[in-house]
Amino acid sequence: MEIFDTMSEMGHEQVMMCSDPSCGYRGVIAVHSTRLGPALGGTRFWNYPTDEEAVTDALRLSRGMTYKNAVAGLHLGGGKSVIIGDNRTVDRKPIFRAHGRFVESLGGRYITAEDVGTSTRDMDFVHLETDHVAGLASKSGDPSPVTAHGVFRAIQASAKERWGSDDLTGKTVALQGCGHVGQYLARELTEAGAKLVVCDIDAERTKRVAAETGGRVVGTANIYDVEAEIFAPCALGGIINDETIPRFRFEIIAGGSNNQLLESRHGDVLEEKGVLYAPDYVANAGGVINVYGEVAGWDSERALRKADDIYDTVLRVYEIARTEGIPTYLAADRLAEERLGTPQLA
Ligand code: NAD
Repeated sequence: MEIFDTMSEMGHEQVMMCSDPSCGYRGVIAVHSTRLGPALGGTRFWNYPTDEEAVTDALRLSRGMTYKNAVAGLHLGGGKSVIIGDNRTVDRKPIFRAHGRFVESLGGRYITAEDVGTSTRDMDFVHLETDHVAGLASKSGDPSPVTAHGVFRAIQASAKERWGSDDLTGKTVALQGCGHVGQYLARELTEAGAKLVVCDIDAERTKRVAAETGGRVVGTANIYDVEAEIFAPCALGGIINDETIPRFRFEIIAGGSNNQLLESRHGDVLEEKGVLYAPDYVANAGGVINVYGEVAGWDSERALRKADDIYDTVLRVYEIARTEGIPTYLAADRLAEERLGTPQLA
C-alpha cells in the first residue's frame, strides 16, 4: 500500500501506527479530519489477517465518521482506531491502557469510544490513561434510546416525504431486531399509532416486544416478504442486497443498523425500484449525538432534543436527492461535504 497516496486520496490528516510489545498491543489510530472539531470514533478490536487490512479498515471507518459527524451537525471531526488481535482476549487491561496512552499522546485531536469487539469496561481501562474517551458506563451510558429516537424521526421524515404527512397512524412497520435500539423504537412507533411486525433470532426478545406493542411475530427469514409500508432494520448490516431487494414491497426503509447496503450499488437499485431509503448513517446518528453530549457535558434530555433534528436532516437529504437527481445514499454524502466545505473529498 502506498500509504501517503492513499491518505491524500481519501483526505486523511494522520495515521498513527502504535505498538507496545510488553503486552502484545498493536493498534492503528486514523485521524481523518479535525476540520469541524476533534476526531471522534470508536476503537474496534479485530483479528485482522494482515496489517494492511487493519490499516485499510481504520482509513475507511475514520472517513465514515467524518461524514457521519458532519451530517449530524456536530462540532466533531472523524477518526477511528483498530486494535489487532482476538477480541475474546481475557487480559484486556494492559492492552487498553497501552491504547489509552497513544490516544493521550494525540492531545485531544482524537477521542475514542467503544465499537465492535470492545465494551464500556475496556473504555474504563483507556480512561486510566486519558480523558479523551467517551461512552463510559458511568457517564452518558446506553445510547440506544437516543439512537432509537433518531431513527423514529427519520421514519417520520420519510413518511412526510413519501405521503405528505408524518402521521404514522395505521402504517405497518416491519421491524428486524428487538435488541437495544429495536425495543425502544418499537415503543415510539406504537405510541405514534403504527402497527408492528417484529422478528429477532432471540425468541424471548421477540416475545417481549410483541407483547408490549401488540405486534405480530414473523420468522427472521420472512421479514423481507412482509406486507408493510415501512421496513426498519435494527439488527445486521448488508441486509439490502440482490437476494432481498426483489422481495421488498416496502415504500420506505429507515432503521438503526449500520452498513445496511451490502454494496453502494444497492442504493441505486432501491432508487430504481422506487423505495425511499433513509441513509443509515443519517438515521442512526443518535448514537454519536449521545457520545457528543457526553463530551460537551449535555444531559440526556438535550441529546434527545438534538436527535430530533434528524427529521430535518433526512428531509434535506431527500431534497438534495430530488434536485440533483441522485440516490439518497449519495445525497447524504453531498450534505456532509457541504457541511465540511469540501465537495472535492473522494
Ligand atoms: P443489539 O445487539 O442490542 O440488538 C440487535 C438484535 O438483533 C439482537 O436482539 C439480535 O438477537 C438481533 N438479530 C441478530 N441477527 C438477527 C437476524 N438475522 N434477524 C433478526 N434479528 C437478529 O444491538 P443494538 O445496539 O440494538 O444495535 C442494532 C444495530 O444498530 C446494529 O447494527 C448497530 O451497529 C446499530 N447501531 C446501534 C446504535 C446504538 O445506540 N445501540 C447506534 C448506532 C448504530
